Amino acid sequence: MATRVSLTMAGHEEAGIGDFVLLDEITIDSFMDNLKKRFTNGKIYTYIGEVCVSVNPYRTMNIYGADFISQYKGREIFENSPHIFAIADAAHTKMKQQGRDTCIVISGESGSGKTEASKIIMKYIAAVTNIAKQQEIERVKNVLLQSNAILEAFGNAKTNRNDNSSRFGKYMDINFDFKGDPIGGHINNYLLEKSRVVLQQQGERNFHSFYQLICGATDNELARLYLRRDIGLYTYARQGGRAASGDPSADRPDYRNTMTAFRTLGFSQPQIDSVWKIVAAVLHLGSIEFVSDGDKTRTADPSTVKHVAHLLSVTEKELVDSLCHRVIAARGEVMQKEHTVSEALYGRDALAKAIYDRLFSWIVKRINDAIVVHGTPGRFHYKGTVIGVLDIYGFEIFDKNSFEQFCINYCNEKLQQLFIELVLKQEQEEYMREGIKWQAIEYFNNQVICDLVEQSHKGVIAIMDEACLNVGKVTDEMLLEEMDKKLANHPHYTSRQLRPMDKDLRHKEEFRIVHYAGNVVYNVIGFLDKNKDTLFQDFKRLLFHSSDNTIKQMWPEGEMDITQAKISFENTTKRPLTAGTLFKNSMIALVKNLASKEPYYVRCIKPNDAKSPAVFDDERIRHQVSYLGLIENVRVRRAGFAHRVRYDRFLKRYKMISQYTWPNFHGGSAKDGTKVLIDEQKFSDDVKYGNTKIFIRSPRTLFALEQKRSEL
Ligand code: ATP
Ligand code: MG
Repeated sequence: MATRVSLTMAGHEEAGIGDFVLLDEITIDSFMDNLKKRFTNGKIYTYIGEVCVSVNPYRTMNIYGADFISQYKGREIFENSPHIFAIADAAHTKMKQQGRDTCIVISGESGSGKTEASKIIMKYIAAVTNIAKQQEIERVKNVLLQSNAILEAFGNAKTNRNDNSSRFGKYMDINFDFKGDPIGGHINNYLLEKSRVVLQQQGERNFHSFYQLICGATDNELARLYLRRDIGLYTYARQGGRAASGDPSADRPDYRNTMTAFRTLGFSQPQIDSVWKIVAAVLHLGSIEFVSDGDKTRTADPSTVKHVAHLLSVTEKELVDSLCHRVIAARGEVMQKEHTVSEALYGRDALAKAIYDRLFSWIVKRINDAIVVHGTPGRFHYKGTVIGVLDIYGFEIFDKNSFEQFCINYCNEKLQQLFIELVLKQEQEEYMREGIKWQAIEYFNNQVICDLVEQSHKGVIAIMDEACLNVGKVTDEMLLEEMDKKLANHPHYTSRQLRPMDKDLRHKEEFRIVHYAGNVVYNVIGFLDKNKDTLFQDFKRLLFHSSDNTIKQMWPEGEMDITQAKISFENTTKRPLTAGTLFKNSMIALVKNLASKEPYYVRCIKPNDAKSPAVFDDERIRHQVSYLGLIENVRVRRAGFAHRVRYDRFLKRYKMISQYTWPNFHGGSAKDGTKVLIDEQKFSDDVKYGNTKIFIRSPRTLFALEQKRSEL
């Protein structure tokens, strides 16, 4: 142990300091300097106390092998050099020893390494558990690990920021038995960016699954799906341009991995077939065009329609009917209303997006079925303890920001609020509770921005929902006017109308929110439609009547006929919740869930926009450090103390160091015993005595105590 110590303790090394708390002075410059030193020396992890800051190395690092795993297993965070394994181990040990649920919140912008971090954590946990090699636990571990391949195939895409960008949010609970072995889990998925199914920006791709299928399926498989091995034929998959097309050298092996994962997870062959049929149907849908024929609209290419109908197991007539007109109920009568060509195109795209979105949610459900924790029959349902891992979309600022970015950025506000609550505020409150003097640290509390979005009646989501009640009557422009009226005085909201001279607001449809991470200009066009997120009942009915059972299962509400659907829609109490409100509710539930657990944080940083392992882009990183609130984090941590522990626990762990406390202290309370020990060891200058806990300022003291303990 002693040799390990000398190599690793976070001291003043050339490669920078392992814990920002130990810097001589805390400024953004000294922080950046240390981060850069470490990055250029290949050290991608640095702590702020128990928060792990991770810089994406953009190269394969040789630090995740079995040797590293055994080095970190069962060790305290401060015993080894900074590593994400130490955080995973701490979360696992805490859960196991104290029976507490823990969670690991991974945050950072797109491409900063969140998903990689979550996979590293899962692999570590898999590696250190199930020593007894029990079959069922091995199966669970396998399913947990393999589920990533499927989720990434269907939920990730190449974007201009990240070749493997997660376009959905993911929270995964891993359940453990009393021995600390994984016995199951559950995934919550949040808001898939379904607009990508029909539209991709230049340089970007649709979800990986489309390219995996075209590049990876055999000729026979493709033929059965009426597909050709040429992405260029499919509108929905080729809008990103040539550079953003299928890549057989990656997509083909990925297809194989996805297939293997499907089988490991127990998807049946008919289910797997249905999945690919749906993917193929979506690709073909993009090729369906419409022509106007007098006062009727009809599909232009019968063969594509035939293929889509076959793939979805519906009749051609049913498909054409639902694409070209809709059935409406008015004044007790049921009649058909013809679509215009542009309405039909809109409907086609809405159908494609909805089919893919449902497919994704259905896949997540099947994964959850495969890892559900089974209670032992006859006993109460045993769920054990839980580690939650959150890998959710990072803050996004694009050239054009829409409803999706609005939701994603709101999500990041909520997580920042949780971070403030848990790390900054609670820490300060604890010092107060313990009667310890400290200096208040200024930090920006973003609650005001969360309110701007989520408050009832006057928040953006509430205003949108109100506008959505008046279907067809309110336009996006009117929504913006309403927001301007209600939010004109909000310090974090403005629009072109409110500030005509503002050079960031170029179009009259734009409004700006000053987020904690930066200013984002949103374009309101499309907000109402995306918030309403309705699909013509005709499509739901069509898919419910599919003779493919998997497809049918995905559309239970298609059972309603048009009059029932109309009644249910007009009955406001039963009206389906809007996308914005659903998202808001899911975020509130998520934050509540995380707050009930002991949190660990991984803060990911993207070093440059070129995906280069060698470039430390000072300006880009400085911005991230500042909006992640890392400097405040260090200050609070430092104004405070690196470590705090209850007196009885402290004494239990270190009493063997002192002759006065070993084997037991008889001169008073645990607090008295702790004082005697600390005085004898000459650490008095570095500690403060709270009401119930000892607070140790520097990790060095803790480290010295640990060393003395292990040398005995
Ligand atoms: P998004 O929000 O877009 O989903 P993200 O934060 O999840 O982004 P990742 O997909 O995890 O980002 O990382 C982007 C890429 O960076 C990875 O595909 C990988 O090439 C590289 N990368 C990230 N972390 C590591 C790591 N620890 N070691 C090696 N490469 C890494
Ligand atoms: Mg990701």
